Amino acid sequence: MTTIAFIGLGNMGNPMAANLVKAGHQVRGFDLVADNLTTAAANGVTISDSATAAVDGAEVVVTMLPAGKHVLAVYGEIVAAAGKGTLFIDSSTIDVDSARKAHAIASEAGMLSIDAPVSGGVGGAEAGTLTFMAGGSKEAFAKGEPILQPMAGKVVHCGDAGAGQAAKICNNMILGISMIGVGEAFVLAEKLGLSHQALFDVASTSSGQCWSLTTYCPVPGPVPTSPANRDYKPGFAAALMLKDLKLAQEAAQSTGAVTPLGAEAAQLYALFDAMGHGGTDFSGIVKFLRGDVA
Ligand code: NAD
Repeated sequence: MTTIAFIGLGNMGNPMAANLVKAGHQVRGFDLVADNLTTAAANGVTISDSATAAVDGAEVVVTMLPAGKHVLAVYGEIVAAAGKGTLFIDSSTIDVDSARKAHAIASEAGMLSIDAPVSGGVGGAEAGTLTFMAGGSKEAFAKGEPILQPMAGKVVHCGDAGAGQAAKICNNMILGISMIGVGEAFVLAEKLGLSHQALFDVASTSSGQCWSLTTYCPVPGPVPTSPANRDYKPGFAAALMLKDLKLAQEAAQSTGAVTPLGAEAAQLYALFDAMGHGGTDFSGIVKFLRGDVA
């Protein structure tokens, strides 16, 4: 059993913390939102009065926060309360530069740290089947992997500090671009009088096959579990896809990488979001491509 401080008990953090409790760890939680604390307490998390109080005496600290500025603010607040050698795991999706700064704050204070963002959404967090993409030293990863396992389907050590975030934004740039590509193909098929099922049956077993088509098909019918069958209720909200595409563009600009399709995907999701559809599943972009949304 390990004593774990869990900071950020939102849509993802709460089910992740619950899986750590189920694995037999002692989990102390903190969040700014009272309702989230009530849910956490019902899941067996011991509620702390502050992030600092949660961290005091913990062997591992997990953060699951909205963005880089939140992670840096919380790290700045809590490092002094943690014992030397405490392992800091940040599972938020944040920009690579902030992730590296968070590692620096931890290491200057004598802590071990990994960035370990996730893929798999709220469903994966509840089922304990998230994919973790970790960045950090071999020593920090070796200590962190068993902690991540109860929340994970798969844990990949991607490299040094920031490598987990780099893998996450590269993966999600592929996803944003491929969802738009699949959506465009269905819209063109409709104009050509080709049924959704016929295109699916061909493309899902041909060279056009990809996750956006075969697992997350953006039109209702061919894949009954995809959000298109429940009026695009997320799933993975378009606003979160936009966040990740913007992170990819920031990284492209800071490194000089040429990503024209990533830039276009970010623009299309920004328009979709500005039209008030940020809370729609990201596969709902097909409605925008069809001209179905105002
Ligand atoms: P969320 O907004 O539901 O949860 C974030 C929580 O952090 C909130 O409850 C908020 O109150 C808390 N918080 C903010 N500042 C805090 C502070 N100073 N101290 C304590 N708590 C604080 O967001 P989420 O959907 O749980 O996502 C969390 C992270 O995971 C994000 O970086 C997101 O991009 C990433 N992510 C989300 C999904 C998803 O499907 N929701 C999937 C993969 C990755």
